[in-house]
Amino acid sequence: MPAAVMWFRRDLRLDDLPALDVAAAAGDAVVPLFVLDPRVYGPVGPNRRRFLACTLAELDRQLGGKLVVRRGDPADVVPAVAAESGAKTVAITADFGPYGARRDRAVGVALARQGAVLRAVGSPYLVEPGTLRSAGGGRFAVFTAYLRALERVGWEAPSPGPLVRFTQVGGDAAPDDLLGPPARPGEQGLPAWWRGLPMGLAARLPTAGTAAAHAALGRFVQHSLGTYAQLRDNPGADATSRLSPYLHFGSLHPRSVLEAAGTGKGADRLRTELAWRDFYADVLWHQPRSAREPLQAFGRHLRWDSGGAARRRFEAWATGTTGYELVDAAMRQLLDEGWVHNRARMVAASFLVKDLHLDWRLGARWFLWHLVDGDLASNQHGWQWVAGTGTDAAPFHRIFNPELQRQRFDPERAYVRRYVDAGGHPVEEDAGAAAATIGAPTMEVVVDHAAERREALARFAEARQSAAMDGHPGGQRGVRHGSRERAGR
Ligand SMILES: Cc1cc2nc3c(=O)[nH]c(=O)nc-3n(C[C@H](O)[C@H](O)[C@H](O)COP(=O)(O)OP(=O)(O)OC[C@H]3O[C@@H](n4cnc5c(N)ncnc54)[C@H](O)[C@@H]3O)c2cc1C
Repeated sequence: MPAAVMWFRRDLRLDDLPALDVAAAAGDAVVPLFVLDPRVYGPVGPNRRRFLACTLAELDRQLGGKLVVRRGDPADVVPAVAAESGAKTVAITADFGPYGARRDRAVGVALARQGAVLRAVGSPYLVEPGTLRSAGGGRFAVFTAYLRALERVGWEAPSPGPLVRFTQVGGDAAPDDLLGPPARPGEQGLPAWWRGLPMGLAARLPTAGTAAAHAALGRFVQHSLGTYAQLRDNPGADATSRLSPYLHFGSLHPRSVLEAAGTGKGADRLRTELAWRDFYADVLWHQPRSAREPLQAFGRHLRWDSGGAARRRFEAWATGTTGYELVDAAMRQLLDEGWVHNRARMVAASFLVKDLHLDWRLGARWFLWHLVDGDLASNQHGWQWVAGTGTDAAPFHRIFNPELQRQRFDPERAYVRRYVDAGGHPVEEDAGAAAATIGAPTMEVVVDHAAERREALARFAEARQSAAMDGHPGGQRGVRHGSRERAGR
């Protein structure tokens, strides 16, 4: 039997990996391949690049140094590696994102031309996006219905890794190539006016790789799962799993997380949170445009601020100097750790959209640049949820009051003390980053929340009216489900 190729992407582990089972069964040896695709990694910031480089380095160690890393367009690289190794099968975990799905089709066509086949097996989700259908056969528009369907259908149990003999062909790149200078403002879709904003490597990134992922899971189950349902919204308690970067790169599969969590109140809540991840991937699969455009028609009519004053307000937000403590703590945690607590993400995002009246896509881009767990589906839809233009049905009436949120979720100011009172953590410079200065904490607020709340409501009402005149019921959609969805957050 000739060799088979296992093309790794966002499934960077060796156990519980159905695609690897397929590769092992299809060849007498398996060539483990990773492709550095400039279209994927060009626009990625240094935090995710570093985390990925370390994850790949660990994978290479586990493979006894046999990981083949090549740079280029996968439609050229993958068939070339298959031909060099005599492989007739290339196994992958399916990708459901807009670019990934297109790329895989192109690779499949190129392989077919040389008599080889691309076999997509499994997914990074509990259930493959696009699989679950409503009673009427359509896609799910709201989360609660999706969750019910997901729980009804269930998911596979984790499986042990197969016994595999790995073999190698030559590579032309290395994981550390990811550590080269990232894009600069003005390149890769980054606004040129971000020049001067802190865009370098965070000082305290989590440790990457499967060993660290399993250790984090073990710690969470042992110390935090019992109180997760009560404390998960409290950023100062640090009571969540922090598994998101590992789930993003596939160091862990969500089914392993749920198996380790077992049963109980904490496990139930964790299942719901992981279901949001699945749901957003499903929404993106059905509506790829939702990565860039508002899901609700009225969102296209929203009026955003631009110009010099708007840029200065963005800068205050991005550097954690708005004067609103919870917002500033969130934005400083982002710069310091490349990760932000979920409640703080929601409050900071709401502030950008509803207090500063800036386009959610600008904030989403900033988050994606810095987040070590930056994920197109979860990030863009998290932002749309906050902006009121997404799947949520209680859209614009929910305007977080940043100070009341602080009082409710960080009453002892533990989170604010850690990230704001400490005076701003240093941000490590890297070659491609602009000068990184985080301002001193400020008591002066950049805008008055009460006034901006009124302004936001007026703009949302105006946008809905314009949408209605255009013949889009838009904003009316889904109001029926509002209270249920709201209660869940
Ligand atoms: C504006 C905004 C942007 C976001 N961007 C991202 C992103 O780029 N990548 C990302 O993984 N998550 C994103 N989220 C969702 C959520 O904030 C993070 O998944 C969570 O904070 C990760 O921390 P954790 O692992 O400790 O979560 P836990 O509370 O321990 O939850 C376990 C897992 O469930 C999933 N999860 C939890 N909440 C959500 C959610 N609301 N949506 C989707 N999945 C969820 C994550 O995979 C998470 O690791 C965003 C949320 C908002 C409001």
